[in-house]
Amino acid sequence: MRRFTGRMNGEQYLANATTARKVVHDLDPETAECRIDEVIGAGNAEPFQSQSAANAAGYNNCEHCIEPLHLVLQRRRLDGRGR
Ligand SMILES: [Zn+2]
Repeated sequence: MRRFTGRMNGEQYLANATTARKVVHDLDPETAECRIDEVIGAGNAEPFQSQSAANAAGYNNCEHCIEPLHLVLQRRRLDGRGR
C-alpha cells in the first residue's frame, strides 16, 4: 500500500534508512512482516521511484516483498545468455 505520510508521496519503493539495516521495500506487494508503518513512524522512511535506484544507493531488497537480489541477478545472467 503506497503512503502519503512522512517523506512518502506515493512512491512505490520505501527504504528503511536506519544504518543498522538498509532495506528497500516494494509497497505494492508489501507484507505485514515489512512493518512499513513502524519505519515511517520512526522517521526512517526514504522514498525511491525505482528498486534499482534504491539498490544503487546501497539498499538490500526486503526478503518479504521483493525477490532476493541474488535471484534477480541470477535471472538476469540467465536472460543474458539468450535461453
Ligand atoms: Zn518488505
